[in-house]
Amino acid sequence: NSDKSLILVSNRLPFQLLEQDGKLLLKQSDGGLVTALKSYFNAESNRDVFKHKKWFGAADFPEKRWNKFKKQSSVPDDFTVEPLFIETKVYNKYYNGFCNATLWPLFHYFPSYVVYDQEFFEKYEEVNKIFADELLKVIKPGDTIWVHDYQLFLLPQLIREKMPEASIGFFLHIPFPSYEVFRLLHRPWKEKIIRGLLGADLIGFHTHEYVQHFLKTVRMVLGYDHHYRTIAMQDRLVKIEMFPLGIDYEKFSTASTQPEVTQQMEAITRNFPDKKIIFSVDRLDYTKGVTHRLLGFERLLKTHPEWIEKVVFVMVVVPSRQIISKYNERRMLIEENVGRINGKYSTLSWQPVIYRYNHLGFEELCALYHVADVALITPLRDGMNLVAKEYVACCSEQQGVLILSELAGAANELSEALQVNPLDADEISQAIQQALTMPVEEQQRKLSLMQKRLIDYDVHSWVNDFMLQLNDIKQQQKAEE
Ligand code: UDP
Repeated sequence: NSDKSLILVSNRLPFQLLEQDGKLLLKQSDGGLVTALKSYFNAESNRDVFKHKKWFGAADFPEKRWNKFKKQSSVPDDFTVEPLFIETKVYNKYYNGFCNATLWPLFHYFPSYVVYDQEFFEKYEEVNKIFADELLKVIKPGDTIWVHDYQLFLLPQLIREKMPEASIGFFLHIPFPSYEVFRLLHRPWKEKIIRGLLGADLIGFHTHEYVQHFLKTVRMVLGYDHHYRTIAMQDRLVKIEMFPLGIDYEKFSTASTQPEVTQQMEAITRNFPDKKIIFSVDRLDYTKGVTHRLLGFERLLKTHPEWIEKVVFVMVVVPSRQIISKYNERRMLIEENVGRINGKYSTLSWQPVIYRYNHLGFEELCALYHVADVALITPLRDGMNLVAKEYVACCSEQQGVLILSELAGAANELSEALQVNPLDADEISQAIQQALTMPVEEQQRKLSLMQKRLIDYDVHSWVNDFMLQLNDIKQQQKAEE
């Protein structure tokens, strides 16, 4: 039994502290990542690899409530939660500022949306340092630290400086852009970000393309070359690798056996008898291509009027980052388009776009995946896009057609989907027409090929693969010494 700890770090903790009947409860969020990590580390074969498992991240509950919780409950020892309490003013400039008004638009190829603000960057550095200071209070040599996502680019190097022997992995959940785009960052920020990341031993991305973009960026910014995706730094080897994030396939593919899901499915089909259902769901974000998608659907109604009263487009948009002005503008634009299309094409008994602006729970989401004849997923850029994979997993009756943007990371693995250029309304409309008229045998063939791939590399294999490769590079470093 080892004495080593595994420490996971992400901007937000995937746990909430809820008050129920006067008692405080720590509730795990439904995100696929936390479920996968827990089940991986609780599996018999892995249970003894790490003695302690901890999750570090900013808390979205007040410190007072946390202190009260710690007093009244014994903290579970399988996964300890370490919340960080960061001053709101600092946090906002870091999170809504540098993370989501600078890095997010640039990394998703929206350079004209990028805000250049030195104070935002300073707060980004400050928060990364707060994370490092808190982590360094608990980590010991020999521990493994796995850092997640673009909010914490500087953290690997900040830990490395103080603990040179630490085992550090980093995974990026968004695209890594081409150097031609990355170079648009302010010069000193660029260098700090790349140096920060290279503090890790293993750096993972969703696709081969993002790996190539990163390797070229390292060469252009710092002059370091690589040999088979390994960079020889002065003190260490750093491995850059592709790990396409998978889903909890089992959970989605068996969802329709739950009575709550079947009830919701029946309710939806009752509402739309004899109609084909097109479905989409995304967080409200300019990267998701929602307005272009609406124009594509409108083009279909114009060029194929035979679908009038025969098809509905159920479009769900989930509220997100409401504090940033670009997001509010986007919402207005979407609602204007929905209103215009419905105004133009509705009849007394039918409305083409059923628009909802709210969050869906797991059961309702799966019910919609199940009843949808077509999923229309057309982001302008997306690191991966899990919704596309979840839809394919939910088509357990082997019927359904996925239309997918060629600019989503998931397009690499879902090559049987009808792939479209998400900016091109004609292409979207033609793909919808093809999807609505696709023979069942063809739907089945495409789905089973995609499903097989999703089963082979689900979220559990993803975690496994990352941990194995982190271990490998540590062994390789030792062999080089
Ligand atoms: N999701 C959800 N409820 C909703 C909409 C989405 O639980 O109403 C989940 C969905 O199941 C998926 C995730 O949110 O796992 C969205 O991931 P994706 O990679 O598609 O996009 P992101 O929001 O991370 O950009």
